[in-house]
Amino acid sequence: MNIHEYQAKAVLKDYGVPVSAGVPAFTVDEAVAGAKALPGPLYVVKSQIHAGGRGKGKFKELPADAKGGVRLAKSVEEVAAHAKDMLGNTLVTLQTGASGKVVNRLYIEDGSDIARELYLSILVDRATGKVAFVVSTEGGMDIEAVAHDTPEKIHTFRVDPAAGYQPYVGRNVAYALKLEGAQIKQCVKLVGDLYRAFVEKDMSLLEINPLIVTKDGNLRVLDAKVNFDSNALFRHPEIVALRDETEEDPKEIEASKYDLSYIALDGTIGCMVNGAGLAMATLDIIQLYGESPANFLDVGGGASEEKVTAAFKIITADPQVKGILVNIFGGIMKCDIIARGVLAAVKAVGLQVPLVVRLEGTNVELGKQIIRESGLNVIAADDLDDAAQKIVAAVKG
Ligand code: GDP
Ligand code: MG
Repeated sequence: MNIHEYQAKAVLKDYGVPVSAGVPAFTVDEAVAGAKALPGPLYVVKSQIHAGGRGKGKFKELPADAKGGVRLAKSVEEVAAHAKDMLGNTLVTLQTGASGKVVNRLYIEDGSDIARELYLSILVDRATGKVAFVVSTEGGMDIEAVAHDTPEKIHTFRVDPAAGYQPYVGRNVAYALKLEGAQIKQCVKLVGDLYRAFVEKDMSLLEINPLIVTKDGNLRVLDAKVNFDSNALFRHPEIVALRDETEEDPKEIEASKYDLSYIALDGTIGCMVNGAGLAMATLDIIQLYGESPANFLDVGGGASEEKVTAAFKIITADPQVKGILVNIFGGIMKCDIIARGVLAAVKAVGLQVPLVVRLEGTNVELGKQIIRESGLNVIAADDLDDAAQKIVAAVKG
């Protein structure tokens, strides 16, 4: 689960992390009131969407030379003008995709005087089973480009969860960031506080870009992006309360109600599969034959008729879907039961696009027979390869 920058900063502030003063705003009036509550004379008006690259982003509704989704303002009037530009408009950044995201919330922040922009992120390094700090002196910009062009400028430090955070890690981070004097001590405290927040709140990613050194020589977190491990949300109701469903794909929200593992993708072939591994293999083989999947969907081992119907509804609600591939291995479930479920779902939802069904496993012959005799326009397939070729051909034809 993701949260907004201003929410992430509030979480971090509770751990003693230095952030700027700021006020969230849903309207121009609130933005003005927020700015008036800040000391000034410099303000920052920040679009709150679940995507980065806002500063360099463009608003669809504004002229091409208009400023992006993070803007400095030198007066309350300027804050109002920026707020008017942003609220209700669609911000397109490198991370939003071409359709962009509508800005419904702003964060009005006390402006900082920046001496240096640094990069610091924390993530779970699955290869070593440790928490990794990834840092660079090249903050504020596209870190993927830094990693690509100058990988030597990216430094990684790991913390063994059994030993916990040790101050030497913070010192190593400080040296890698070329900090000096009192900043080193600040950095040791900051890195420790961030580690505590990361572990206690079950984050899977905490990215601070930029972490700045202010003109008066202090460290401050200027941007914060946080992902939480969804599997641990049950123990963080205070985090769940921060969820902004307008930022999420409505299809994914609907799928979560039925406990379906669904991830929206941007292709044309809707997929209904049981088992995450088989689902990923299905996505791969669709790509291999020259089309792309519209989604990842694992209906699980014991998919009920109700679940299969819900899954069908979600898949067919996507206007991009030009064909559907059902690929089920009947292990715990029996193929005849799945075939009945698929047919019931097709009857309930109606079907405007070609449907290929590949069944394998227990009672497979009976399952195929049920589909053959259903009278519905379902294309049966023998194996995964055959199924992928048939659905790609159907979509292209
Ligand atoms: P992002 O574009 O979505 O990553 O948004 P950021 O919060 O990182 O802001 C983008 C850029 O705006 C930063 O890298 C800074 O250069 C600039 N910026 C943000 N806040 C301030 C501020 O308080 N003062 C100044 N001078 N620049 C800021
Ligand atoms: Mg940033």
